[in-house]
Amino acid sequence: MNIILLAPPAAGKGTQAELLEQKYHLNHLSTGDLLRASASREDAFGKEMKKILESGVLVSDDIIFKLLDEYLEESENKNLLFDGFPRNINQAERLENMLKERNDQLDFVFLLEVEKEILETRITGRRLCRKCGSVYNVNINSLKPKQNSICDKCGGELYQRNDDNKDSFEVRYQEYLDKTSTLINYYQNKKILYRIDSEKPKEEVFQSISNIIEKEMTE
Ligand code: AMP
Repeated sequence: MNIILLAPPAAGKGTQAELLEQKYHLNHLSTGDLLRASASREDAFGKEMKKILESGVLVSDDIIFKLLDEYLEESENKNLLFDGFPRNINQAERLENMLKERNDQLDFVFLLEVEKEILETRITGRRLCRKCGSVYNVNINSLKPKQNSICDKCGGELYQRNDDNKDSFEVRYQEYLDKTSTLINYYQNKKILYRIDSEKPKEEVFQSISNIIEKEMTE
């Protein structure tokens, strides 16, 4: 089973990915996480990535596929959960070819829908665990960590992403509208797109996604 989570920034991709990964034993592949790992390095490539991520524009497709190929070479689990990838039609087409070569296919594309005003409040409150990657939000009661700046799950330190600020958000949101949202029609035509109201609490969003997966799998 291969799944894509398609959404504007801060719509809940990471949160839902965590839940889906556990329930369906998927390999969670976040291109944003791969890029942030590169950006944390002190070499020239790391510095270049840091700059691009902070600005909010998309990274070039060649870089994305290089990171992806490296990741897939090492991963054994065939079930993939794509978070933040593909971001444009070229990436979507290359993904399709890549899956074909593995005698595999895409099963579900979940579009997480959230109004822009809500995304703005979410983005400034988002916190991530440095150790296990768990996602929290200090602006949403149900997503607040029990202790300030400490992960409930592993005790790791919580941090705020450099691009989780209003200026970067505007650029990221515009990139989504200009490039990524074209994928909505693309996957709708392939009849694998499912719209999810992601303004609801995370458990309800997860339930909606799970219901669709289970219904389709039993048919
Ligand atoms: P995300 O963690 O998905 O919000 O991504 C953070 C940033 O990483 C984005 O604003 C882009 O600059 C970059 N990025 C992540 N995934 C991709 C992708 N598939 N293609 C191009 N850029 C990406």
